[in-house]
Amino acid sequence: MRTTLITGGADGIGWATAQMFAARGDRVVIADIKGDRALERAASLGADHLGLPCDVSDEHSVLGFFTALDARGLTAGALINNAGAGDTAKPSLEQDAAHMRRMLDINLTGTFLMAREAARRMTHGGAIVNLASIAALTALPGRNGYCAAKAGVVALTRNLGCEWADRGIRVNAVAPGYVQTDLVRTLEREGLLDADAIRRRSPIGRFIEPAEIAEVLWFLASPAASAITASVVPVDGGWTAFGAAG
Ligand code: NAD
Repeated sequence: MRTTLITGGADGIGWATAQMFAARGDRVVIADIKGDRALERAASLGADHLGLPCDVSDEHSVLGFFTALDARGLTAGALINNAGAGDTAKPSLEQDAAHMRRMLDINLTGTFLMAREAARRMTHGGAIVNLASIAALTALPGRNGYCAAKAGVVALTRNLGCEWADRGIRVNAVAPGYVQTDLVRTLEREGLLDADAIRRRSPIGRFIEPAEIAEVLWFLASPAASAITASVVPVDGGWTAFGAAG
C-alpha cells in the first residue's frame, strides 16, 4: 500500500485529495496545522490512515512530523504539498516585511522543507506534487507575498524535478484557477474577491471543484505520469489562456 502525505489535508483541496487517494487504495497521512482536525479527518477515512499536526512553515515541526512517521516505519511514496494560505489585498505601499515573510514561509519554504524531508527518505523513488496557482503566472495586484511564493513554487518544482530525476523522484506542480474552498469563501466574505466577475472572466464560466484538482494530483502522482517531471499543469478552466475582457 502506497503511503501518501498530504499537507493541509484537513480542509479544502487537501481534504478532497485525501478522500480520493484513500478511496483509490493509498494510505493517507494528513499533515495539518490544525492537528485535531487532521486526526478527525483521518479517522473518518478508516483505520489505515493517519492525521498528525504539522506546521509546514516551521522546520522543527516538519522534522518532528517526519520523525513521527519514521517511528511508525512509514515512508512516503508520494507527497502532495498542498498547505497554503491566501493573501490580503492591502495596497503595496502599506505592506510590511513580516507579512511578506509569513506568506513566503507558509507557501514556499514549507513546500521546500516538506519536499526535502520526503525526498531524503524516498530511496526507491517517489512522486511529489506541489500546489502552485494562477497567481504564479498572472498578476493579482496587492497579493505580493502570495504571488511571489507561488512563482517560487514553480521555480522550486522545476529545480527539484531536474535535480532528483536520477533518483527516480518526479516533482511536478498543479496551477489551479479559482477553486470553491474556504480560502476563496473567506476572501469573498472579506470583500477581497468578486465571485461574479471571476465567473465572467473564466472561459468555463464557473469555479473549479476541489475534486477536479484532486484528479490531476492523482494522475501526476501515479505511474501513468512516469515521463512527466519538472512540469506545471494548469487546472484553471482556461483562465491563463484567456485574453479577452470577460
Ligand atoms: P484552505 O484554506 O481551504 O485549506 C488549506 C489547509 O492548509 C487548511 O486545512 C489549513 O489548516 C492548512 N494549513 C494552513 N497553513 C498551514 C501550515 N502552515 N502548515 C500546515 N497546514 C496548514 O485552502 P485551499 O483553497 O484548499 O488551498 C489549498 C492549496 O491550493 C493552497 O496551497 C492554495 O494556495 C492552493 N490554491 C488554491 C486555490 C483556490 O482557489 N482555492 C487556487 C490556487 C491555488
